[in-house]
Amino acid sequence: GGEELAQLIDSMLRDVPDFPLPGVLFKDIAPLLADAAAFNACIDAFADLPAAFEADLIAGVEARGFVVAAAVARAVDAGVVPVRKAGKLPPPTVSARYELEYGSAEIEVPVGLLEGKRVYLVDDVLATGGTLAATIELLTRAGATITGVGVLVELSFLNGRQRLEGQDLTSLLVL
Ligand code: AMP
Repeated sequence: GGEELAQLIDSMLRDVPDFPLPGVLFKDIAPLLADAAAFNACIDAFADLPAAFEADLIAGVEARGFVVAAAVARAVDAGVVPVRKAGKLPPPTVSARYELEYGSAEIEVPVGLLEGKRVYLVDDVLATGGTLAATIELLTRAGATITGVGVLVELSFLNGRQRLEGQDLTSLLVL
């Protein structure tokens, strides 16, 4: 069940204090991805969601989101679309700039692949929600309809969920 999966995920995260900045407790998902049974259980949990299996495309945010997106896409027989940091994709692209705690960032998606598509969006960790909120805006601007959003881990004390209001958000583990 969901509670069992949450416990499994929790047991496979590695907490790294003060990375990448002092004061941040980084949740390293590498041990989770490296465990076949745990990784499979996470992918199956997403693939069982109507929002995921009704999608034409699974979008993942660079870079850890790519790993989840590709696996979910295979499980639900969907395609994959990369959401990349600016400057990595060949033109034409559509981009969005958004604010981080320190400075700003820019993300891009390919033009032409998203128009009229139903897209399920995944990432590893929902922190402040800035990245996923900007991604949703960008995918929508590119003509996609977001069927839902899935993350492995939600850091609820950062209130990222509030920034994704109106979205069907699934977090396999809420901390
Ligand atoms: P956000 O603040 O929600 O925009 O987070 C941006 C990205 O940074 C997410 O996609 C995560 O991959 C990563 N991230 C943020 N905070 C953490 C954390 N405490 N542990 C691991 N990854 C994080």
